[in-house]
Amino acid sequence: MKDPDVTTPATPLETIFRLTSIQKNGLTKLGVTNADDLLHYFPTRYTSIAEIKHIADLAKGDTATIYGRVVSSKTSKGFRTKIPMTEAVVEDGTGRIKCVWFHQAYISKMLVPEMMVKLSGHVEERGGVPYIANPELVRTNELPLDASGSLFEGEKETQFYPVYSETKGITSRFIYHHIQKLFSKGVLDNIVDPIPKDILAKYNLPTLTTALVWIHAPQKESDAQSARKRFAFEEVFMIQLARQRERALTKEHSGFVIEPEEKALAHFTSRFPFKPTASQIHALKDIFSDFKKGIPMGRLLEGDVGSGKTFVAAISAYAVATTPPHDNKFGNLQVAYMAPTEILAEQHFKSFIEYFQSGAGDKSGNPIEIGLLTGSVAKKFPSKLDPSGATKVSKAQLLKWVAEGKLPILIGTHALIQKSVQFKNLGLAIVDEQHKFGTMQRGKLVRKDTFIPHLLSMTATPIPRTLALTIYGNLDLTLLDEMPVGRLPIKTEFVTKNNRKEIEEHIREEINNGRQAYIICPRINEPDPEKGLALNAKSVITEAKRIAEDIFPEFEVGVLHGKMKPAEKEWVMEEFKKGAIHILVATSVIEVGVNVPNATIIVIEGAERFGLAQLHQLRGRVIRSNHQAYCYILTDSTNEVSHKRLKALVGAKNGFELAELDLTLRGSGELSGGKQWGISDLGMEAIKNIKMVEAARAEAYRIIAENPDLTKYPLLRSKIDTHLKETHWE
Ligand code: ADP
Ligand code: MG
Repeated sequence: MKDPDVTTPATPLETIFRLTSIQKNGLTKLGVTNADDLLHYFPTRYTSIAEIKHIADLAKGDTATIYGRVVSSKTSKGFRTKIPMTEAVVEDGTGRIKCVWFHQAYISKMLVPEMMVKLSGHVEERGGVPYIANPELVRTNELPLDASGSLFEGEKETQFYPVYSETKGITSRFIYHHIQKLFSKGVLDNIVDPIPKDILAKYNLPTLTTALVWIHAPQKESDAQSARKRFAFEEVFMIQLARQRERALTKEHSGFVIEPEEKALAHFTSRFPFKPTASQIHALKDIFSDFKKGIPMGRLLEGDVGSGKTFVAAISAYAVATTPPHDNKFGNLQVAYMAPTEILAEQHFKSFIEYFQSGAGDKSGNPIEIGLLTGSVAKKFPSKLDPSGATKVSKAQLLKWVAEGKLPILIGTHALIQKSVQFKNLGLAIVDEQHKFGTMQRGKLVRKDTFIPHLLSMTATPIPRTLALTIYGNLDLTLLDEMPVGRLPIKTEFVTKNNRKEIEEHIREEINNGRQAYIICPRINEPDPEKGLALNAKSVITEAKRIAEDIFPEFEVGVLHGKMKPAEKEWVMEEFKKGAIHILVATSVIEVGVNVPNATIIVIEGAERFGLAQLHQLRGRVIRSNHQAYCYILTDSTNEVSHKRLKALVGAKNGFELAELDLTLRGSGELSGGKQWGISDLGMEAIKNIKMVEAARAEAYRIIAENPDLTKYPLLRSKIDTHLKETHWE
């Protein structure tokens, strides 16, 4: 193919380079189709040759980390011992080595030829042939070495090499060379920097052109760092601009005016078996003051696990569901309440039935009707036959009621954002555990119309302030920073040694005292190749069997995980709630929201595999009553940083403190959780820097305040409109 005359960022790569179909597919998989995409495909890290251990150099007695590709693998049995084991051969371009996992025959099922792996272990020898025994195994998508065993050949004078994430057909080296070619074709001459010059100057950031050169071909480490800083700033700045603009756009729309009658509200509130905390009252004040303004509310309710967010949601829902639509004296506004899992949606449905049953609603004393919609079921309360309970209905029927405005409250999962779900008068969208949803999903619930429903987003995963500032730039914040009275601080113990016996005795004691327990395992079943090669981690299935048969034959042991059928999950939760199941062995599916106040003890196996915020959430399952609660954090890991993180859990006062710690203690590689907020790993690096986030926020704020339509910044505007279209306003 001939070179086009001009290479611009928009030029498709296939018109610039001759690509095989495997390469084309590989690039597509990496999200790279044009020159700009490739230029923005950043190295995941840099390396110098010294770091790399070659297989050819390994010798008996070494403890080594190598990268390589799997050549073959099989199961076998020890010659005399008959121990089942996996034998695999791995190569890195300099040589091949055998790896042996004793007692772990299943590993062979997870290894496939060509898979890229990182192995760490001890080199032993048998009959003069070296092998690695029981290496720790991590699946990887990049190899610092390419197949020939050398990094960019012929360029050895450079000390500092970019390493790119690879995929089938696309090596790190391919990316490096093609980016260099783009540079030499003059693509940088045709690039326009979206960030205004004065902002770059103010924060001492390199221009786009310089930054692209520095990130892909740095002469020294500080150049690469400057470049990364610039792109991180750019990312946070763009998100901020989009959020601020979105906020400005939302405020141009009308919101329903909701002013509940004080007496009715007080009556409804009195139905709860507790007195609201000062925090809950404060949160409701914030919400009701928004409700009066006539512009759509966008509020984030951030409260630690167990702080009682559902109560706030229920009172707000009541106020909306008893308000007639603006154009009518009859009927009512509607409430959508979205939860991230079926278990949680069911749980909210049941709680709401309790709160909204007869006597709650209008003066006639009728109940307020509630629907439930999940991927697998549609239900309605009250049932015609049994006015105190719910009944299954067809999805079509439920949706018809919703569309006619006859169902004031609809609770559900992601199912609520399907196109087929049309509300007549949606006045309030509540998103529970909103960090579990993408921005797009949250946005879809609040579709654009003359009237935009109020949005109450709730989260218990405390996130670092920098992240909150970045991703919630469009929301007002209310904190629930107080626990209901009488809650005892949870006793958390960090356990590395195997004193399981003591823990088991403690569980027995608690259950004999009428309480219940959770045991959390990192995996559902024996190895799950989908999730990388997380080995030696306990699985729910095996552990449940073990404790039911060997440890607690006198108790009922239940199992709960994400792959079970919804009806099974519901049944297990029901039994656990009733107390018929004493010990629930589960994956982190119970992480969010599950509320069984009688459960007071939680054991978390393989804790190093969970994030701190997640562990805190899990622990939150057992601080929902006034009984003393206990949490055991178990790990077999000997990694010092892991230990430090896990110990933080013992001491931290609250989730917010933990979130900050998690951010500083975790490597940026582990922060890839940013994806759920639409932030890249690079952007997450920026989140560690409060000054940078505040600067980006301040600049975005200033620009939108001066020029809300961004007419003076056409390039920024087009970028941001694309972003908004993708996330909210389609
Ligand atoms: P979260 O904020 O984690 O969603 P929930 O709303 O599930 O918490 O509440 C946790 C538990 O605390 C529930 O059993 C709830 O009924 C109870 N609760 C909520 N508010 C109060 C309060 N003010 N006093 C006592 N218990 C409360
Ligand atoms: Mg909750």
